[in-house]
Amino acid sequence: AAQDEDFGHPEKFCENIPAANWVISATVTFTNDDIVPYIEKVNKKDPHSGSIVTSGPTTIKDSNWLLGYSISRQPQFHKQKPNELIVWLYGLYSNTKGNYVKKTMPECDGIELCEEWLYHMGVPESEIKKMAIDATTIPNHMPYITSYFMPRALGDRPKVVPDKSKNLAFIGNFAETERDTVFTTEYSVRTAMEAVYTLLNVDRGVPEVFASAFDVRMLMNAMYYLNDRKKLTELDLPLPEKLIVKEGLKKVKGTYVEELLKKYKLI
Ligand SMILES: Cc1cc2nc3c(=O)[nH]c(=O)nc-3n(C[C@H](O)[C@H](O)[C@H](O)COP(=O)(O)OP(=O)(O)OC[C@H]3O[C@@H](n4cnc5c(N)ncnc54)[C@H](O)[C@@H]3O)c2cc1C
Repeated sequence: AAQDEDFGHPEKFCENIPAANWVISATVTFTNDDIVPYIEKVNKKDPHSGSIVTSGPTTIKDSNWLLGYSISRQPQFHKQKPNELIVWLYGLYSNTKGNYVKKTMPECDGIELCEEWLYHMGVPESEIKKMAIDATTIPNHMPYITSYFMPRALGDRPKVVPDKSKNLAFIGNFAETERDTVFTTEYSVRTAMEAVYTLLNVDRGVPEVFASAFDVRMLMNAMYYLNDRKKLTELDLPLPEKLIVKEGLKKVKGTYVEELLKKYKLI
């Protein structure tokens, strides 16, 4: 990269990583069912039911570490024993002390990470220590996990097949391809397809990414959630824009657009 612009600017992705960041995750294996009632209370599901338990991550919004957890279909691993329950934890703020464990996540061992989670799950303090010791919690330090998300400009990531390249390609989430979104396995697979098809002149298209940016329903839905679930009239806008919204809403009255705005809770 130091010698040729076509290699991008890798330093953008490994320098200046913010301190308030996700760097720690942990896998907790319980060998008894003491935790089950607490999970059922929050996630309204029996974790041993054989279907996905948390349906995506559950975020503990009051947690100083902004802890989240995800429980996949159990058993998640072939070698997992029937009495085992496996929970995946992570925290998005690595530079703040916990609410129960007064340490930052990187300062904690596995038992302490588990204790903090048990505290947020509502386990009485008198039982937290024993439950955390009975479980096996393996922490993972991933200093560059969010580097895919570092602010970047065009050219910071090399093109999958650089313009002059005949036999060299870049694959994975740090290579530049059109439209796709990082932090996915699909991204890496598409770049590999693009590399092979381009360099070997294979007449095949890379599967399209879902075109959400051109679907007004998706945009409305995203707008609602990105604005903290506010309606259009509740947005903190400058006066001229407020007036535009007001006029716009009058114009769409009785139309399909109004129906969509209602459906996506924007009005
Ligand atoms: C905690 C976590 C959760 C995620 N969740 C999801 C999810 O739910 N859905 C999703 O789609 N994506 C998810 N991702 C992202 C996804 O896992 C990655 O984008 C994907 O695995 C990248 O694949 P890859 O083959 O490009 O790179 P990698 O899987 O990173 O493979 C690169 C390989 O290169 C090896 N390597 C590095 N340097 C060298 C070297 N010098 N010589 C030889 N080998 C080397 C590494 O050891 C590694 O095996 C998640 C990632 C993490 C970390």
